[in-house]
Amino acid sequence: MCGIVGIYNHSEAATLTYLCLYALQHRGQEGVGIATFDGNRSHVKKGDGLVSEVFTSRDQLQQLAGRIAVGHVRYSTYGGSNLANVQPLIFKYKDTHIAIVHNGNLINLKPIKQELEEQGTLFQTSSDTEFIIHLFAHAKGDSFDEKMRQALSRLEGAFSLIALFDDKMVIARDRHGYRPLCIGRIKDGFVFASETCALDLIGAIYERDIQPGEMLVLENDAMREYTFASPTPHHCIFEYVYFSRPDSRIFGEYVDKTRRKLGKNLALEKPVPNADIIISVPDSSNTTALGFSQRSTARFEIGLIRNHYIGRTFIHPNQAMRDFSAKIKFNPIGGVLKDRSVVVVDDSIVRGTTLQQLVRMIREAGAREVHIRIGSPPVKFPCFFGMDFPSTEELIANHRNITELQEFLQVDSLAYISVEGLLNSMPLPASHFCTACFTGDYCEKINR
Ligand code: SF4
Repeated sequence: MCGIVGIYNHSEAATLTYLCLYALQHRGQEGVGIATFDGNRSHVKKGDGLVSEVFTSRDQLQQLAGRIAVGHVRYSTYGGSNLANVQPLIFKYKDTHIAIVHNGNLINLKPIKQELEEQGTLFQTSSDTEFIIHLFAHAKGDSFDEKMRQALSRLEGAFSLIALFDDKMVIARDRHGYRPLCIGRIKDGFVFASETCALDLIGAIYERDIQPGEMLVLENDAMREYTFASPTPHHCIFEYVYFSRPDSRIFGEYVDKTRRKLGKNLALEKPVPNADIIISVPDSSNTTALGFSQRSTARFEIGLIRNHYIGRTFIHPNQAMRDFSAKIKFNPIGGVLKDRSVVVVDDSIVRGTTLQQLVRMIREAGAREVHIRIGSPPVKFPCFFGMDFPSTEELIANHRNITELQEFLQVDSLAYISVEGLLNSMPLPASHFCTACFTGDYCEKINR
């Protein structure tokens, strides 16, 4: 759960990166950073918090000189949340300034760490991003591109990355393509970003996705294209369900369109025949709920208002904060809910505590019946590829069946879309997606 940006060959590289990071803020709220290279020196500014909290003046952006930049918004997964792990990570190797941003988690860290430490490598951070640079430094190859290819081919797991090596930019995506990464054009320059909503904000034109197993090297305004590993796509299906913005186009299709289809399939599979209204848990479930209403007799209503101005403190990833944030994040609309049989469409249930509190609020607002419909199958298994799911024990569907969950949530009915229904909603064949958190079928061996 992170967002990354790269700008190549633009006079306002730092400012464009900053704007793109705003568009990607939903991918991480714990830390943000931008690094640039001006032809002689590298510049970096990073800190804990939201983009608006770390970048507070025009001067800060002006100090980030150069026509080439990378940026990152962070949601800590592996490595924990401390400033040393906020990206871009900065290194110096044989007089070359390196800045790297990365989204996803690697899964073969144990053997690589052992090998590198035996060769005398000292690790500066607990972030797996650092492994990539050490592998590059140790790679044997005749050219920069060959060394980079070799380093990337050693990695397993999820990585969409952008790196600066002085005025060279490297862009790569793991062979499964777990996390999204796209390329766009702006004037004579290039933009790389986790999601296309970042391109839209700065007026860049979307060209294509970076392919699974693909590496690009930009130098002297030319682009060299390589395949470093044979592509076997397993895109994270959760990006469509919940994580990406609906106005983004990922894995070749708009998220909004896919979520609407998901909602329609959910309504066909698990209808609520006598409901009065359908509401969403805003914002991530809005389009799924709209799709649900298009295959239902009940109408779509706005029944919950989300407060968007809570700030970083309340999105901190520990349990106490999460419980508190759930209470202040949403407010029910009594006039919509009172005496109604309500279908609440949500994207997923992870711990279940937020939904439990929401149901309580909806009942207190006067709802006669509450029926929950979920746009993903039960999340029963942990994610090793960058999604911040808790341990197996904390995943509520792992140890409670539907009847027990209904009891826990205090609802009249609860139903999830099936794995087949979810896959049928996707724009690509089922084999192109990772569904491991629902099925336990991981497509790689985990060795962290
Ligand atoms: S395990 Fe789930 S969240 Fe993780 S990459 Fe696979 S589909 Fe996405």
